[in-house]
Amino acid sequence: MKLNKFQFYLSIYLALLLVFSCESNEPGFNPENTGTDSHYKTRHLVIVVIDGPRFQDTWGDPLKVNIPHFANELASIGINHNRFFNRGATYTTSGVATITTGNYQWMANDGSEVPFFPSIFQMWLKKYGGNPNQAQIITGKKKLSVLADCADPKWRGRFNPMVNTENRDDKKTLNVALSLLEKHHPRMTLIHFRGPDFYGHANDWTNYTKSIKETDQYTYDIWQFLQSDPFYKDVTTLIVTNDHGRHSDGIRDGFVSHGDFCEGCMHINFYASGPDFYSNREINKPRQIVDIASTVATLMDFELPTSSGLVMWELFK
Ligand SMILES: [Zn+2]
Ligand SMILES: [Zn+2]
Repeated sequence: MKLNKFQFYLSIYLALLLVFSCESNEPGFNPENTGTDSHYKTRHLVIVVIDGPRFQDTWGDPLKVNIPHFANELASIGINHNRFFNRGATYTTSGVATITTGNYQWMANDGSEVPFFPSIFQMWLKKYGGNPNQAQIITGKKKLSVLADCADPKWRGRFNPMVNTENRDDKKTLNVALSLLEKHHPRMTLIHFRGPDFYGHANDWTNYTKSIKETDQYTYDIWQFLQSDPFYKDVTTLIVTNDHGRHSDGIRDGFVSHGDFCEGCMHINFYASGPDFYSNREINKPRQIVDIASTVATLMDFELPTSSGLVMWELFK
């Protein structure tokens, strides 16, 4: 077959395109690379971060009136820490960045500063192929887009997860999250619900407690979706936690605000359910928000040398 001049140049262009498009995915996305060398059953992880409810209004309430799905359905299939704390900055950006990096850092809370340390998403994407759709951050506060990157020059702009952040109601965040889970089947996902914090700051007790009940429902909806989808069923671990609490009653303006080191601000929830963790168990050993990232790295089989947290071995069967 003889090529004319146009066909000749077109074929060279297409060949070059192929070469460079492969190189741009360094170290090379490999869909077969699903982390099956791990000896854990967990293949996928979903972290739900509920923004700013107090422990006393959630798990710390003996009647658990605001969290019926946790109390009735999720508690028996998971493990719960009763003494779990954010001992760093009890603000949203710092709190969620501590979850994703395993380090305490006092960050600007307006989305103007990225975390210094690389995240679990970047570390995981580097090891498991680099397709950003496989790691997703979905949040109800636009400023949390900073979680996708970090300032460490060795990691900045590299292996960044997909981010979907907008200032929006939790119902919208839930719908976006469910559609992204269904469409891309990400293996590392963080979903952030803003409701309790939003209505707390508005000094609106009725909607504050209502939004805690909604996030309880939405977390249960996510769990049910994971169990109904063959990709996720039985091989996915769900972690539910908070970025911070709110002031205890009698401290400053009580449930309206947060940001100091009072019990109410520091004491948060930690719940996990998955094939490698105990179920129907409560733990009273004190733990910290900084320990989540190291635990995730162990569970999902990647190194996280930059984390200052510890692995929560007591979760593992
Ligand atoms: Zn707040
Ligand atoms: Zn406080």
